[in-house]
Amino acid sequence: CGLIGIYGPGKDVARLAYFGLFALQHRGQESAGIAVGNERAILFHKGMGLVTEAFDERKLKELQGDVAIGHVRYSTTGSSLLANAQPLIFRYSKGMMAVAHNGNLTNAAELRHNLAVTGAVFQTTTDTEVVVNLLARYGQSSLEEALIKTMIDIKGSYSLLVMTEKRLLAVRDPHGVRPLCLGRLGDAYVIASESCALDTLGADFVRDIEPGEIISIDENGLVSLKALTQPRRAACIFEYIYFARPDSVIDGISVNQARRAMGRQLALECKIDADIVIGVPDSGTAAAIGYAQESGIPFDQGLMKNRYVGRTFIQPTQEIRAQSVRLKLNAVAKAVEGKRVIMIDDSIVRGTTSGKIVQMLRHAGAKEVHMLVSSPPITHPCYYGIDTSVRKELVAATKTIEEICEMIGAESLHYLSREGLLRAMTEQNPHIADDNYCMACFCGSYPIEIPIGLDKYAME
Ligand code: 5GP
Ligand code: SF4
Ligand code: MG
Repeated sequence: CGLIGIYGPGKDVARLAYFGLFALQHRGQESAGIAVGNERAILFHKGMGLVTEAFDERKLKELQGDVAIGHVRYSTTGSSLLANAQPLIFRYSKGMMAVAHNGNLTNAAELRHNLAVTGAVFQTTTDTEVVVNLLARYGQSSLEEALIKTMIDIKGSYSLLVMTEKRLLAVRDPHGVRPLCLGRLGDAYVIASESCALDTLGADFVRDIEPGEIISIDENGLVSLKALTQPRRAACIFEYIYFARPDSVIDGISVNQARRAMGRQLALECKIDADIVIGVPDSGTAAAIGYAQESGIPFDQGLMKNRYVGRTFIQPTQEIRAQSVRLKLNAVAKAVEGKRVIMIDDSIVRGTTSGKIVQMLRHAGAKEVHMLVSSPPITHPCYYGIDTSVRKELVAATKTIEEICEMIGAESLHYLSREGLLRAMTEQNPHIADDNYCMACFCGSYPIEIPIGLDKYAME
């Protein structure tokens, strides 16, 4: 999911939030929502689909206020329904509050169960509503205190934005799994999942929110509170590999530079006699350029992506759906014809897309297709906010590399080693130790306790 928060009395905060969400669209395409606070009340609008589908001029104009939070959703807990769209807005003892969450709580089901037996009722199936209930329960004290108490109860990954009628608060979980950063736009403050949203708004990047930090902004200015500390940082390495936008800088590391370094490491680990290197757009492009740099094999655009591809377009016929990759990608025949091609992608999840792309390249005349992946095999599910439902079918969890290679029909298949991935990250920032990244989906070593006996408290 993607988060944007604006504290800007006198500014068109809803419009700024809208543009911020537009820049964060890659973090979620299922629903979009914006809530604004105007001293007296919180107004909001939420809709399904892309930001541009959920909002129009009239809806934005209705959202007048001094402070705003926005959210784009990609569901990991709870189904894709409007009821589950965020921000969640509620009344508590002291007024109104809106909450937006990126991440996934690992003890949500248990907390939900405990809250339910003491009388709490729920309107959604999201883990975020657990946060809402806890905040309301602890809300008699100050909001900072309520947040700290909530942070003690909840486990897992969470970057959170909390808004009242006139205040904006931001929290990053003690492990710093999901990104969150702070910017300034004149007198206004901006908080965003990724720095690319600050750039879009013309805001200056100030800094990343620290793991375990609470930031509170109101008419008296900004206050930072180190709420909880944790011995180990566990920033999601997959944000750098796939999820974040290349023009973002997260915790001091450029996503684009990190991806190029992964591609260079791949070239050091895996030398192949080939004529061209191509990337699977968009997420594989930077690594392909890095590979080309290091290996000296020329980079070319061998695949084109339809830039208007969303996830909500009209359902194609069954016949076309079976080959839906063709709606998204096409081979550039002149670039690959008669060539020995190295095709680089950032990751293989199920292996279905990769298989179809290999076929597509062969059909376009490629003589050989070697598939290289700029991350290690994904063998374990993510419990911290990256699409777990997809991950249930992880091909590398059940098949060997040789079997996957055969399945996708490539001449050869190679993955970046875990050591190579970490070398690429250390190259970007030598001050971040290897164990300060979460890479559980590649090794099964989970930095935060994962749920057990989940079905006991099943939510859906
Ligand atoms: P596969 O060959 O496994 O079917 O697809 C691999 C592609 O899925 C890669 O291009 C990669 O960028 C993309 N991918 C990786 N992780 C995710 C994810 O969590 N969600 C979606 N929608 N795509 C992903
Ligand atoms: Fe990121 Fe993988 Fe860790 Fe999930 S398990 S937080 S995707 S590194
Ligand atoms: Mg991709």
